This record gives sequence, C-alpha cells and structure tokens, in this order.
Amino acid sequence: MTLHAHPPASHFSDFLATDLRSVVPADPVAPAVPAGPPGFATEQVHGGSEVDAGFGARVSPIYLTAGFVFDDFAQARARFAGEDDGYTYSRLANPTNAALERRLARLEGGAEAILVGSGQAAVTVALLGLLQAGDHLLSAGRIYEGSRGLFRENFARFGIEVSFVDDATDVDAWRDLLRPNTRALFAESIPNPTNGLVDLQAVADLAHEHGVPLVVDNTLATPYLLRPLEHGADVVVHSASKFLSGHGASLGGAVVVGHDIDVADPVVFPHLATPTSALGGRTWLQAHGRRAYVEFTRQVIVSRLGPTISPLNAFLIQQGVETLSLRVARHSENARTIARWLEARPEVARVDYAGLASSPSAALARRYLPRGAGSVFAVTLHGGEPAAQRFIDAVELFSRMTHVGDVRSLVLHPASTTHAHRSEAERLAAGIEDGSVRLSIGIEDVDDLLIDLERALRAVRAGLPPQ
Ligand SMILES: *Cc1c(COP(=O)(O)O)cnc(C)c1O
Repeated sequence: MTLHAHPPASHFSDFLATDLRSVVPADPVAPAVPAGPPGFATEQVHGGSEVDAGFGARVSPIYLTAGFVFDDFAQARARFAGEDDGYTYSRLANPTNAALERRLARLEGGAEAILVGSGQAAVTVALLGLLQAGDHLLSAGRIYEGSRGLFRENFARFGIEVSFVDDATDVDAWRDLLRPNTRALFAESIPNPTNGLVDLQAVADLAHEHGVPLVVDNTLATPYLLRPLEHGADVVVHSASKFLSGHGASLGGAVVVGHDIDVADPVVFPHLATPTSALGGRTWLQAHGRRAYVEFTRQVIVSRLGPTISPLNAFLIQQGVETLSLRVARHSENARTIARWLEARPEVARVDYAGLASSPSAALARRYLPRGAGSVFAVTLHGGEPAAQRFIDAVELFSRMTHVGDVRSLVLHPASTTHAHRSEAERLAAGIEDGSVRLSIGIEDVDDLLIDLERALRAVRAGLPPQ
C-alpha cells in the first residue's frame, strides 16, 4: 500500500470543486483576477528561482565548491574567453550566490546584482567600479560609520577625494559641494542612526544633471520599504548581514545595478572606454554597452580584490529573504509603537525616528516610506553618558550589540563605541550626544520590549537629580 502524507492532488481538487459548488452561487460574471507583475511577497519566495538541474531540489542547493569541472579542453578555453557562460571558479561566480543575486535584483527592481562577503565590501566595490585616483566622491555626512571611515581613510590613500554634505536633507547643500571631478554621489535611504531622510529623487536629479550616478545604501529600508532605483538611484548597495539575512547568523553584501545607469561618457568614466587585452582590444563599453559598469565591477573589481561570499552564507541570506516582507512589516510596527512610547517619556530628550509625526523627516517618510520607517533609530536620554550607561546595563531582553536588523532587539551606545574615535564636536554634528542610544527593534512581542524599556528608564530615573 502506498502511504500519502497528503491526499493525492486529484482527490483534493475534486473535494475543493465539490465544496465550492455547494457554497458559491453560480455567477457568470466571476470577479476579475488583477493582472500585473508578481507582488513583492511572491518575488521574495520565487524571484529568479530555477529548479536545480542535478536532482530537482526546490530550494537552491549550497554549492560549496571552489571550482567547476570543464568537460574538455575546448570548454575551458571557451569559458575563459566568456563564450560559454558556465561556471569556472567560485570567486568569479557560484550557482548558490547567483540564485540570490537574481532574487535581490528582482526585489530591488534592478537589472543585475553582485553578491559579496559583507556590506562594507559592497560599498567598496560599487564605488571602485566608478572611481579612480583624482576623482571626487560626494557623500551624505550622516552615514554608517564604517562607510565614512572607508571614504576618509582608505579612499583618501587611493587618491580619491571625498566631501561630506553636512545637511544632506538640503539639496542645495549637495549642489554647493559638486566639483568638476565629482564622479558619484552617495547616500543612505534611512540614515543610521539619526534617520534624517534625504530626498533621493532630488539628489538623483542633481547627480544626473552632473552626468554621474547616485549610489544608495538601502540596508536599513530594504526593498520592501523603499526601492531607490524607482526614485532615480542608479546603484543600490546592501549590507545583507542585517534585515535581508534577518537572523544575525551571517555576513553578506550586495550591489544591485539599475537598468538605466549611464556610464557612457569616456571623459567621466575613462576606465570603461579604454581598450583592454582581456576583451580582445575592445573597451568595456564596446563589449558590454549598458552592462559595462556591472561587468567591469564584477570582473575587474570584485574578482581581483576578492571579497567573495561563502555559498553557505548566501544560502542563509536566501532563507532570510524569503520572509523579508513579514519581518520588516513587524519590525516597523514594533518600532513605531516604541518610538511613540519613548517620545512621551520624561526621561527622554529626543527620539530620531523618521516614522514619527514630530520628525523633521515626516513629510519625506510619507512619500518614500509609506509601508513603514524601519526599526533602527536613536533615542537621546536626559542625563548624558551616565543615563545611557544605566539604560544599557538595565535591559534584559535587548542585546547589547553592534549590529542592526536582527529579529532580536539590540541596543548600543554610539558615543563610546562606533563613534568613540570622533571628537565631541564631530559627534554632535552627526547628531550623536553622550545620552544617545541606538536601538534596533526586533520582532518580539512589543509588550515585552516595552517592559524591558520601562525597566531601563526606571534605572535612568533613579540616577537623575530629583525634580
Ligand atoms: C552594517 C552596515 C554596513 C556594513 O555592512 P557589513 O555587512 O557589516 O560589512 C553598511 N551600511 C549600513 C547602513 C550598515 O548598517
């Protein structure tokens, strides 16, 4: 006898048909099923998926292999010449990584994606695909501290000049700092941790007037909340270690390239317009047209600098991506409840959450983040560092950690950790005070988080002078 875990499909559909006939009155005008491309939740589960060629595995297998066998001499030559698009070596491409690249490209509405080992690597390779010594990068001032350090210290040593826009919410401030040799603009969709939103479309328009691309770090919004390519951005970068992975188990990064990136000007991007022996004497633009930037970045920047992601980590991130919309909706809902609760508390001086009606970014949040404002923000306590210390030492459910976008709620004191090397004046300019605490709200029951925060605020109150 054959055992069926479920009734065979035919029985089930017979049952369904009978059942429906008995409850649904015959109606010749059935409601129309809406036409259109698949929605986000469908794409996050199915986008770019292919049934495994070997055994038909539904979930993309983990191809933990350094290299791939060539059938014969001719195939090896063809693969190296780019005439056969099979795999060669996992630093260049790997099927597990490629599956996640296809899915992220779909979710961001981009043409292609390149997966790398961390968000830091993604920012690095996306920009080194555009910039060389003598070029200028114009970046929002309030950005992830690792990106800021990369621009100031590492890029400076490569001869790449960088300027930071102090008030990136003001488009004219960007315009004032443009130079003839500016080759890219850089911003974050939800700036970490002070949430001062940038008008992406206006900054993208400015970049295009100047003939250069806008690169947006979309880590804290994720494509579920905001798709920067739909607002004029040309390249999106991610730390996939955060919400995309979601479970805090692996690092990863991604560069997603839009359909319309224009890098054809040989004066602005000479590296794409220079004949190269690897392309038989053609230029990247001649060989790849609109895909010149993504091919150059993959083949010359990523494959040579080597920030390869393990297929095991790509697999874990893929698992996370399949529930992205569910998690981020819950993260945002919890964060909004908590931000509003904190804002009303006497121990709290300020809450920098773009989703609050009181936020200076409220109008931009309504326009760019209608589904929610994410869950990473700063709260500034009365009482300076001692208050922050009491708060952080009192929590029991929140984890004291330098990480964000995890299913678990996390807390960190930027002034003594991520921003400790900055002068006090620089910290204040970045909106980081001694009493500022960064929260990354998880998906726990919000009441349990509020109980933990109440405990922390009680500890703060105990240390404040009596009113
Ligand atoms: C964490 C983070 C990065 C760096 O990503 P890693 O995966 O840690 O290298 C870049 N940008 C933002 C906004 C981040 O939060």
